[in-house]
Order: sequence, then structure tokens, then C-alpha cells
Amino acid sequence: MPPLSAPVDPLLTRKLVCVPITEREPAAFLAALAAAAVSADIIELRLDYLSDAAHAEVFAQLPALVAQYHTPLLFTLRPREQGGQRDLSLGERRACWQSLPAAVAATITLADFEFDLAASFAAEPPPVPWEKVICSWHNFEGTPDDLIQRYERMAATPAAIVKLATKCNCIGDCLRLFEVIEYAQSRKPIIALGMSLPGLSTRVLSLSRGALLTFGALQPGAESAPGQPTVADLNQLYRVKQLTRASQIFGVMGQPIGHSRSPLIHNPALQAAGIDGVYLPLEVDGTAAFIRDFVHPHTRKLGWNLRGLSVTIPHKLAVMPLLDEIDATAQAIGAVNTIVVESDRLRGFNTDVHGAMQPLNELLDVRGARVAVLGAGGSARAVCYGLQQRGAAVTLYARDLRKAQSLAAEFNATAAALDSFHGQADIVINCTPLGMKGHSEGTSPLTAERLRDVRLVYDLVYNPEQTALLQTAQAAGCQTLGGLAMLVAQAAEQFRLWTHQAAPIDVMWQAART
Ligand code: NAP
Repeated sequence: MPPLSAPVDPLLTRKLVCVPITEREPAAFLAALAAAAVSADIIELRLDYLSDAAHAEVFAQLPALVAQYHTPLLFTLRPREQGGQRDLSLGERRACWQSLPAAVAATITLADFEFDLAASFAAEPPPVPWEKVICSWHNFEGTPDDLIQRYERMAATPAAIVKLATKCNCIGDCLRLFEVIEYAQSRKPIIALGMSLPGLSTRVLSLSRGALLTFGALQPGAESAPGQPTVADLNQLYRVKQLTRASQIFGVMGQPIGHSRSPLIHNPALQAAGIDGVYLPLEVDGTAAFIRDFVHPHTRKLGWNLRGLSVTIPHKLAVMPLLDEIDATAQAIGAVNTIVVESDRLRGFNTDVHGAMQPLNELLDVRGARVAVLGAGGSARAVCYGLQQRGAAVTLYARDLRKAQSLAAEFNATAAALDSFHGQADIVINCTPLGMKGHSEGTSPLTAERLRDVRLVYDLVYNPEQTALLQTAQAAGCQTLGGLAMLVAQAAEQFRLWTHQAAPIDVMWQAART
């Protein structure tokens, strides 16, 4: 076992969010440093983003800035082949560290020495005391199997801290990073982070599992590595420093997951309800491997207090055979969008039906109403089931008549071509993406003329909140209901299933609108 290092700065017994400075011009670099001092526990000066001339300009002002802000500094000079911005030989990197002006060296709380640099100083006095040195290794291709052996080799240097940052090509790669964090607990302090979206859980949860530090960008676009969240998200959305091993874990499994609004809705709700928990976006490729290795209490490899998951495309059907129990609604519509972990069992639910119907039921009684459902995909399926249960007379209108006919047959509805709708309904529900941002924003599936005799138009599209269809419907004198109501209602139902508490609806609404 490598020697335990001498006690490091008391700062390093805390959970730290480090903000890297990645500006290239001295004035912008110094301005970012001042801005980072507001939210960072420690600021990383990425000196490789600056030219040698810019170093001199920044160094001239650094001691005064440090005296003003008191935020600890981590110095890094990363060569390009290890993920940095400058072409620097080992000799040039050594010379740079050795020639730091004394007043600048005095401002260093921590220094990042890549493994080769740390090894090069092993037999001579280092330019920075070893108790301030992080020995680092980066892999931008993947996460190898031998992380523990690598940690051992790096911990054998005199550096006080070991840092491993590797690309997660799939969420399964996070397991090895969590494993090495566990291994390091009785050894040298560790920083272990997974790059790219599949690695996000390591960036959010590593502090709670004993790692020293995680990185957060000052703002979107200022990341120093792929998949790095902002410092605001780490501190406010995920509350990484408040999390512990006991914190309840929730998340949404899907692919792609980067656009999901669910973390923006559920995290503030957990916070408002006073629940010690966090909700993570989980970029999941293989359904079965994820359920086995991360979710099912009988087989999972990660010891975490996972309590529930939202399930989205493409996993809604594939998770079903992997669960212990599926409720009648999810069974009837053939899709699960919510998993509840209850003791050692996984239970599947579908909150889309409740989410779609609850806001509608609050406005009117659909029993006996003539309802036109536009589209014949997943959300149309949930809507048809909910309407059938409530005794509405449903006609499905789709551009693919055969799809409409096959769905209609399952739910005792009628089918028609989308362009054949001429106002023969009390309620219209749009279950197509028509009008959605990034798809066909500004397009309405129906004209005001066709909506003249319709009482209520419900658009499941929620982005933008005011769709072209809703505007058209208002112009035709119809009552309207937007898709955010469903988004919030289905999330509130998930919250209730996971926590057995009523969801803070106002907080969810406010979060859904941002
Ligand atoms: P889906 O399973 O892909 O189904 C989409 C349906 O719309 C299909 O019938 C599809 O026809 C049809 N469609 C697609 N593009 C069309 C076009 N240009 N013209 C006419 N029909 C078109 O999608 P989904 O999950 O049902 O979602 C549909 C919409 O509802 C999305 O915008 C989604 O964001 C929204 N949604 C909102 C909520 C909420 O909480 N508010 C929840 C779920 C869904 P083909 O089969 O012929 O392609």
C-alpha cells in the first residue's frame, strides 16, 4: 500500500467545486477569475489556455486578486496530448513550473502535475511542495479496466492527491470510476470523473462518495472537459455538496437525454419538499445492462440509495420484462415511464395517462364527449386509453391511416385520415409533434376554420408554451390547454409514487416554464 500523504490543507477535507478558467486573453481570464470567486470553492487557472506573454500579464495582477478574493487557486498547465491547449514538451513544462515568480508561487493552493511531470520531479526538489500536488491522468478515448492499478502507480508518487479523468463511452464506465473512488477511501485522496454525458453521474455524485473535488464550468461554453456541468447546476440544481451516501437517488434513463426537462423539474421539487435527494439525467444505451448493473437491488453493482426512475425513449417497452411488477395502466398501454424501487423489487407504472387526463378532467367531463385525437404514436396511445376509461367517443386522425386503424381497434375508437378532420368534435387533442420547437415551430395541424365548432383544444406540445395550434384555437374562440400541464401532472404523479408525498406543484410549474 502506498504511504499516506502528510496531512494536506484543511480545505482539502471539504467537498469542493472547482471552476476552471478557460479564457485566452488576459483581461477576460482575470475577469472570469473574479466572477468565479463568487461561486467556486477553488479556481483552476488553466495556464495552457494562455500564451507565455499572457502568463506574464496575468501573473502581474494575481497576488493582488488573491488578496482581494481569498479563493484558493489550482494551477494547471496541460500539454495538448493530455487534453490541454498548448504544444509543450516535458522540458518546457518543467521549466515553466520552475520559473514561476515567487509572489505567484505563493498563491498556489494546489498544482496539477500530470503523471509524467510528477514522475520527472520524483527524485529532486519539486517546484511546488508535494503536499500541494495533484498527480493527474486523463484519457479522452475511454475508461480502461485497470483504474485501480493506475491509481496505485500514481499514488506511489510523492503527490498528495490522485486525479483520474476518463471518457465514459457508456454509463457502465461510471462503475469503474465509482469503484476506484471506493478503493481510495483508506488511501490517498482522489478526484475521479467521467467525461461526456454518460459520465455525468460521477461528476454529481463523486463528492458524496468521498472524492475531493468536482469541476463546474463558469458558464455554458466555458467547459474545460466534455460533459462538465456548470458550477450553478452543480451547486443549485444538483446540490452536490449537500449530498451524502444516504441521499435518495432518482433519475431519468433515456437516449438522448441531454435535452430532458425532467431534472429541471424534479430537482427543485425535491428541494422544496425538503427531501435529501437528487435527480440525474442518465444517458443509457443498453436497457438490460443498466437495469442489472445500476438498478435492480438483487444484481446492481453500485451501492446507492436509488429510489426511482423516469423512463423515456427508447426504453419504455424494453424495461417491461426486466421489472418484478407492472401496474394495470402500464400493462394496458404497453409502456412503462416510471420505475419505483421498493425494498428489493422494481415496480413499473405509466404516469402519462394520469398526466394527460388530469388537466383535462379539471376543465370538463369528457364522458360522452366527441374527442378527436391527432396522431397515432406513444402519447396518442396513453390519451386514447385515458379517454376510453372515462367513456369518451374517440376518433383517431393520423397521416398514416393504417396506424390509426390499428390503434383505434385496441381502444374501441374510430380511425380517419388527418386531413379529413373538419370540426366534427367537442375536444381536439394534438398528439403529433406539429408545432414543436426544432421540429415544425409555427405550424398548426389545423386551421381556425376547422376548429370553429370545437369547444376545447389541448396541445401536448409544450415547447413553445404557446404553440401555433393554441393561437389558432384561441382565434377560433376555443378554450385551450397547453402541454406543460401534462408535463407537470405526469411528473407530479411520479414524485408521489417515489416519495409518497404530494408534489410541490407550484415549484414544478415554475421550473417547467424556465
Ligand atoms: P410519437 O410516438 O413519435 O408519435 C408521433 C405521432 O405524430 C405519430 O403518429 C406520427 O406519425 C405523427 N406525426 C409526426 N410528424 C407528423 C407530421 N409532420 N404530420 C402529421 N403527423 C405527424 O411521439 P409522441 O411520444 O406521441 O409525442 C408526440 C408529441 O407529444 C411530441 O411533440 C411530444 O413532445 C409531445 N408530448 C408531450 C408530453 C407532455 O408531457 N406534454 C408527453 C408526451 C409527448 P407517423 O407514425 O406517421 O410518423
